[in-house]
Formats: sequence, structure tokens, C-alpha cells
Amino acid sequence: MSAKNLKFNSKTIHGGQHPDTAYGAVMPPIYQTSTYAQTTPGGHKGFEYSRSANPTRTALENSLASIENGNYGLAFASGLSAIDAVIKLLNPGDEVISTNDLYGGSYRLFRQVFEKYGITFHFIGMQSVDAIAEKINGNTKLLWVETPTNPMMNIIDIKSIAELAKEKGLLLAVDNTFATPYLQRPLDLGADIVMHSATKYLGGHSDIVVGALIVKDKELADKLYFIQNASGAVCGPMDSFLTLRGIKTLHVRMQRHCENGEAIAQYLKNHPKVEKVYWPGFKDHPNHTIATAQMDDFGGMISFIPKGSSFEDAIGIVENLQVFTLAESLGGVESLAGHPASMTHASIPKEEREKSGVVDSLIRLSVGIEDVDDLIADLAQAIG
Ligand SMILES: *Cc1c(COP(=O)(O)O)cnc(C)c1O
Repeated sequence: MSAKNLKFNSKTIHGGQHPDTAYGAVMPPIYQTSTYAQTTPGGHKGFEYSRSANPTRTALENSLASIENGNYGLAFASGLSAIDAVIKLLNPGDEVISTNDLYGGSYRLFRQVFEKYGITFHFIGMQSVDAIAEKINGNTKLLWVETPTNPMMNIIDIKSIAELAKEKGLLLAVDNTFATPYLQRPLDLGADIVMHSATKYLGGHSDIVVGALIVKDKELADKLYFIQNASGAVCGPMDSFLTLRGIKTLHVRMQRHCENGEAIAQYLKNHPKVEKVYWPGFKDHPNHTIATAQMDDFGGMISFIPKGSSFEDAIGIVENLQVFTLAESLGGVESLAGHPASMTHASIPKEEREKSGVVDSLIRLSVGIEDVDDLIADLAQAIG
């Protein structure tokens, strides 16, 4: 049976994988090598230099393609280097439309690195497809979507935007870091490129920094492969191995992230000292209908605002947490708490930040897979 026909929970383990050809190792060995012996110039077994290709990275790239229902995967040194490769498809004068509560590092890369090269970026509320259509002009080449958005948990309708992108001849890229293919598969919904910070849920253990791109189209894959090799921000063999190992348990981890996430979202919603909770699983979430249509569950990312609290109060709460660790990042087995205004989103000007709802008292949780009773008890003592 071809791995293409397997269900998702089997693809995470077997998709694109086969025992190693040398000794039958079930896990691909960590081919910690830069170069490969040739019998005659050009006479090699498909690998000549590890920037161009490495067998451990190839195993990961095949797994990535399989779990996202794509045909080609590319593994990078970080999520941002994967995004960097996509923007390098563009030329000076080209324009990009993206969301106004984008991951802070993506925003910084767009504004502070690529604008210098004559590429223009527009940041809008992408929950409205009409608003996107209005921004499109003759120079627009790429739509960059992140959903759920970070940290406001807005849901953007991938399928409708894919239809608009097709009609206008634009590329659509979706940062699928928060949802993972366990919850949503953008290529199936019509996107051209899926991007991951595999640092987060795919790796899942807070022990690597890795990025990924997955596409269906051969021509697009060739262009991205050219940039990956030419610019050289590749994922190393050790990190490729660890990402592969993470992916094998993605489905069981995600199931627990979703269960714990739901319990904590409900707990916070009923808490008398909590003003507002952002989680797409609530029936009264403004994009709940789209969330239900394009996602299989709602994930473990939650943001909330404690009642009447200031910058200092919010910092007090995150400092008081004992099971949740105060840290950047998300998607690992351990629960993390963050304060976007001073951490992940500090590189976005306060005025821009607040326009999209990232107020000074907002707290973001990445709910891990610990016993949920311990997580709730920790929140109870920290909120007071
Ligand atoms: C972390 C993150 C990135 C950047 O990835 P790195 O692996 O840190 O370079 C991009 N997008 C989202 C949504 C992220 O959470």
C-alpha cells in the first residue's frame, strides 16, 4: 500500500519513509557529512554536497510533503529562512498583502529586510476577502496568510482567498505553524505554498529551530529548491532527524493539546477576573464558522486579557506561573506563557500592535500536554 493512501495518523509515521538502504535502519541515520565519495566526476549515489541535499534532510522533506498532502518538501535552518526563500521568488517593484497581526519576526523580515530591496508589503485584516481584493493591484504577486493569527487567534478563510488568488494569478502562501496539518491542510484548500516553523508543533519538544516549505507544483518546487541551494539556509542532519522524530508523534500530541486547550479556554472564560479569552473554538468567536469548516479541531493556543489589568499586572501573572514556563515560542510538550507586547511582538510598533488588539495586558498561552488539572491549578494561583 502506497503511503499516499494512508490516513493522516499513519502518514506522520510512514509518509515518504522507508528503511535505510545500507543496513535497514528503521529510523534514517543522521548522515553527519558535508560531502560524498564519487567514483568518477559526477559518479555519485544522488548526493554530492550537503547544502544541495543530505539523506537525513531528504527523509524529513519527504515526510513534510506527505503530511501536508504536497509533492515536494524543503527543510530550512529556521522558519524565518523558509519565509526568506519565498520572498526571494519576488522582484523589486512587487507587492505582497499580509495580515495585520502577523508573527512579529515575519513582520520584521518583511519591513526591515525586504522593503530595502524594493518589495512593498501591505498589512490588513485578512478576515475580509473583499478587503484583500481591494488592495490588489497590477504589482501584487503574493498573498501571505497566517491562520490562526498570532496572538489574536483570528481565523482567515483559506479557501476563499485561494479562489481570489487563482482568479488574479497570485501566489498564496500559508504559514501553518499554529494549526499544523493535524488541524488544517492549506494545499487541499487551494494554497500554493505551506510554510512551517517546525521549531514549534512539528518538532514539538522545544529542542530545535527548523523551517519548512511544502508545495504541489513542480515548477514552483524547482524555483524554491534553487533558492534553498543558492542561499544555503538548509536544515542540518541532526535537526532533520529530531524533526522527523517529532513528526512521528504529532497526531497524539495534537490530540492532547486540543483537549487541554479546550478545557483551559472554558476555565478562563468562566473566571471572574478574566475580561476576554481568544480561542477559535468558542461559538461566539467572530470566525467560528470558518474555523469549523477549515480546521478539524481548535488547537492549544489561547490568548486572554485579565480584567482591568495593566502592563505590570500582566507581567505579574506570567511571573507567578509555576507549571507554565515564561518563554518565547510555542508548540512544545510543556506549557508556555508569553507576554506578546514585550516579547514576541515587541518588534511591532505599539500603535500598529494595538490596532490589531495586541494590548499591553494580553497574555498568550501555548497549552502543553501535561495533566490539565495541574495547568488549571497553576492558572488559578497566578491569576489569584
Ligand atoms: C516561530 C514562528 C515563525 C518563525 O520561525 P523560526 O523557526 O523561529 O524562525 C514564523 N511563523 C510563526 C507563526 C511562528 O510561530
